[in-house]
Amino acid sequence: MSANERNDVGIVIVGGGQAAGWAAKTLRDQGYAGRLSIVSDEPYDFYERPPLSKDVLLSDSHSPPFCALFPESTVQALQLCWYRPQRAVQLDINTQQILLDSGEWLPFTQLLLATGARPHWPDPSWQQHPQVLSLRSWEDAQRLRQQLKRCRSLALLGGGWIGLEIAAAARQLGLSVSLFERAERLCSRSAAVEVSQYLARLQQQHGVTLHTGCQTLRLDLSQAQPRIRTPQTETEAFDLLLVGTGVELNLELARQAGLAIRQGVVVDGQGRSSHPAVFAAGDIAEHPQLGVCLQSWAYAQNQAITTARAMLDAQASPYDEPAWLWSDQYDVNIQLLGLPAPDLQCVQRHSIDSSLFFYLNEQQQLVHMVACNDGRAIKLGKRWLQSGRVLDAAQLSDPDCVLMSLR
Ligand SMILES: Cc1cc2nc3c(=O)[nH]c(=O)nc-3n(C[C@H](O)[C@H](O)[C@H](O)COP(=O)(O)OP(=O)(O)OC[C@H]3O[C@@H](n4cnc5c(N)ncnc54)[C@H](O)[C@@H]3O)c2cc1C
Repeated sequence: MSANERNDVGIVIVGGGQAAGWAAKTLRDQGYAGRLSIVSDEPYDFYERPPLSKDVLLSDSHSPPFCALFPESTVQALQLCWYRPQRAVQLDINTQQILLDSGEWLPFTQLLLATGARPHWPDPSWQQHPQVLSLRSWEDAQRLRQQLKRCRSLALLGGGWIGLEIAAAARQLGLSVSLFERAERLCSRSAAVEVSQYLARLQQQHGVTLHTGCQTLRLDLSQAQPRIRTPQTETEAFDLLLVGTGVELNLELARQAGLAIRQGVVVDGQGRSSHPAVFAAGDIAEHPQLGVCLQSWAYAQNQAITTARAMLDAQASPYDEPAWLWSDQYDVNIQLLGLPAPDLQCVQRHSIDSSLFFYLNEQQQLVHMVACNDGRAIKLGKRWLQSGRVLDAAQLSDPDCVLMSLR
């Protein structure tokens, strides 16, 4: 490659989701004026996924508004070289090039992998059945929305956050909903027992039939209506079946290039992978301190912003935010801060319209917190968690003690 050709080489971002969008915008905001290429296998501008399992499903409108990350004019102003819909299929880390499915090689000075995740299908053949769906993309949401309008009964496989949000949307649309979860409780990977119990009560109060501990669940897809058999239930027929059994991270490029991977791509606080010219952001990037892949809107945005800054400035501040994610189910906004861990003391505080769950370590410091319909408490909790403040369990649980007074 000649020097002139090199001038045309710039930063390449693979992925067209939330992390990619925020990284692209931050690079420009921070003054990067070089070539900025985006390779995305979806045909759209950057968009957000949280509305796909909430507002988009519930929208009365014939065509619900697209959940674009930025206004069109903002995206235009970024002056991006779009490669879409195109897939990056190979990463040659030695020559710093990426191969697209069109056959074109795209050279890069720096690369950001923001490839996100795809739904996990316990059996790929299930995808062939027209009444069996999953939810990740805008197109998935349109398909699901149309089906929910036509159907009367929905079976959900998987009691994680997305499954619970779809259950809530389906109940609000008048469908009968049965949920089948392999574990003994809901959201068992990201929520503690007390919170799982709260979620189960919430869903049952709204009429969802829950089946937990479904280790040996069998699907019969030989007829138009999918059927589910567990040791506890006879074969049941449903109009629609949604598979919400977690995700597979899109790690193929990173794996093939030999980047360090544990749960996801191992990155430092600046989003840098084990290769100095390759960065990772969003769902595929392991949280640099927590060592887990969070799959959270806030992480996809803020870790991508930190990473983009560091791509231009090696002295940029590292990412050090605690885990934070939210879910909306019925009229309840649920926010989770930090991660659950064994042997924590659970302190609960309930009022007519909110519920709080505080998880304290032996030193009485906050490690994890869940707030249902109380976003202000989460803001306070974030300060307590980051400062390592010693708390008083009796005060936390006392409904007459004003939390703000503990500031
Ligand atoms: C339905 C739904 C609801 C959610 N709700 C919430 C919520 O309420 N709260 C919350 O905190 N989080 C929520 N999340 C999680 C949050 O949306 C994700 O963590 C976030 O979207 C991750 O952003 P990302 O950019 O890493 O990945 P993505 O948004 O998945 O974007 C990755 C993009 O890269 C593309 N791509 C992948 N491989 C290639 C390739 N080889 N070549 C080209 N393009 C490629 C993908 O098609 C995709 O467009 C939800 C997620 C979903 C799916």
